[in-house]
Amino acid sequence: MIKKLYSIPVTEVFEEDCECPLCLLHERLENESVGYCLGPSLMETDQRLELNKKGFCKKHFEMLYYSRENILGLALIIDTHLKSTTEILKNKFSDALKPGRKKDPELTKLAAYLHDEQSSCAICDKLDATMKRYIDTMLYLWAKEPDFRIKFNSGKGFCLYHLAMILDICGKSLKQDKKDDFLRELFKLQTENLDRVGEDINWFARKFDYINQDASWKNSRDAVPRSIQKLVGYFRKYSV
Ligand SMILES: [Zn+2]
Ligand SMILES: [Zn+2]
Repeated sequence: MIKKLYSIPVTEVFEEDCECPLCLLHERLENESVGYCLGPSLMETDQRLELNKKGFCKKHFEMLYYSRENILGLALIIDTHLKSTTEILKNKFSDALKPGRKKDPELTKLAAYLHDEQSSCAICDKLDATMKRYIDTMLYLWAKEPDFRIKFNSGKGFCLYHLAMILDICGKSLKQDKKDDFLRELFKLQTENLDRVGEDINWFARKFDYINQDASWKNSRDAVPRSIQKLVGYFRKYSV
């Protein structure tokens, strides 16, 4: 049942012509999560407690703010989160200054707390958990559905961010005999498509040479955003 629930969106994104179908899923989920945080989840005590505790990373605070969905809801989350963070910090500040404490280890601990606090994010955690389920479903479909396997192999591969996630998960999801086949197909697909994007970006740069000014752009007009996506995953156009 769970697999069925996840297999529809996975099959859908593999119909799209893009550099990484998992980036499409990620982007959809991210937009839904931002809407959800400022909507229904504020009504559920468990969810609200989690948002208050974890807060958000910089990217997701920006998305929440610029979505202009529910500025009061956002203010209430920040109010609670900032209060508890300030309380924790006050205690840590006074701990660090206690007589007899070695300063350097205390400061290292304090800095580590702040680094964790900056990266702690309710949306990132939810995205990560759901993307793992989607990837698990993708591997299941690859193994069980011949039509999906054809689609998988005729796609454009994945960005390197999602490639790493696939490699992490396929070790647990696929049996050894299937895993070897899968990796062979995946690496072939990935190599061909990295080469293709590499040729596009190379031609894009060479088009600036006056010798090539009258030549066709071929498939390179959007090679810069496509090759960045291939390297690090989808990045949003910064129109807020
Ligand atoms: Zn991706
Ligand atoms: Zn985040």
